[in-house]
Amino acid sequence: MSDPLHVVCPHCHAANRVPAERLADGGTCGKCKGRLFAGEPVELDAGSFDKHIARSDLPVVVDFWAPWCGPCRMMAPAFAQAARSLEPRYRLVKVNTEEEQQLAARFGIRSIPTLAIFKGGREVARQAGAMDAGSVVRWVQAQS
Ligand SMILES: [Zn+2]
Repeated sequence: MSDPLHVVCPHCHAANRVPAERLADGGTCGKCKGRLFAGEPVELDAGSFDKHIARSDLPVVVDFWAPWCGPCRMMAPAFAQAARSLEPRYRLVKVNTEEEQQLAARFGIRSIPTLAIFKGGREVARQAGAMDAGSVVRWVQAQS
């Protein structure tokens, strides 16, 4: 038996314990009953971001973006498509750097879009610039 993984709910941000072998089944949140994997990126603010980064046993792939950024808007469908391929082994999230300026400053985000991967609470990889869905998937898988 493998140890249960902590999966943070994309709806209420509660940490759920899920046996690794049951990850592919998806499952629902013990607290809010929402689906733990919706096949789409999760929009986070400063409070929920910290919960995902600190508690998730899945690598968290962050898209730092802003509504005024043309390349970011172009990349959004690609990132959503990548979420469908990468879940449930990864959690894909989005941070609007215009609304969450402290988060952007804390991580020194200088250009957008920037993708970053967090594992065990630490940033392990970062890549600036828009990517298509296949490139996102390959880049993420190459880092972990
Ligand atoms: Zn929940």
